Amino acid sequence: MNEKLTFEDLAPGIVTLQCATRFEKGRKIDYFISYVNTRRGNIEMSQWQSMVRDLIRETEEEELFQQLLEWVKEEMNISKNEKERENYALHLHASRIFDDEGWVDFVPFNRKYRPARLASAGLIPVVADCCGKEFITTLAQLQNVMGKVRCPYCGRFSNYKKKGNEDKDECNKEEG
Ligand SMILES: [Zn+2]
Repeated sequence: MNEKLTFEDLAPGIVTLQCATRFEKGRKIDYFISYVNTRRGNIEMSQWQSMVRDLIRETEEEELFQQLLEWVKEEMNISKNEKERENYALHLHASRIFDDEGWVDFVPFNRKYRPARLASAGLIPVVADCCGKEFITTLAQLQNVMGKVRCPYCGRFSNYKKKGNEDKDECNKEEG
């Protein structure tokens, strides 16, 4: 277990709760300990969180983590509690969410913070039925959400058309 840890090792799987008992002033108190399942086995939650934090520091991804934290706070509306938001961002970071083209925020997040990552993604312009406005999404998102795509203007999952496919003819004539 001394080989270097990677984010793959710490990628979070299911979280389980285990009941435990302690005695305080002669009284029996039941409580829960949560564990995160990873490639390295089940790791107690707070220990896992500090391992992820250490790994972010070692891999010099602190700036990216701060961006994710800002995104969780300003765009995702997860919680008013700072600690909860930080833990949520640790979970997302260890999952490498920012590289997951199936993530609904993949395009807006990377457009804001990592335009170079967007340049290497397969991007597809679409128009959602709800708002009728054009936006860009990824192939992974079009394949994942049962024929619907999340509209960035209203947040709904809607039917859509690929931009440029409005015409029934497959008319690919060059100009002239
Ligand atoms: Zn919409």
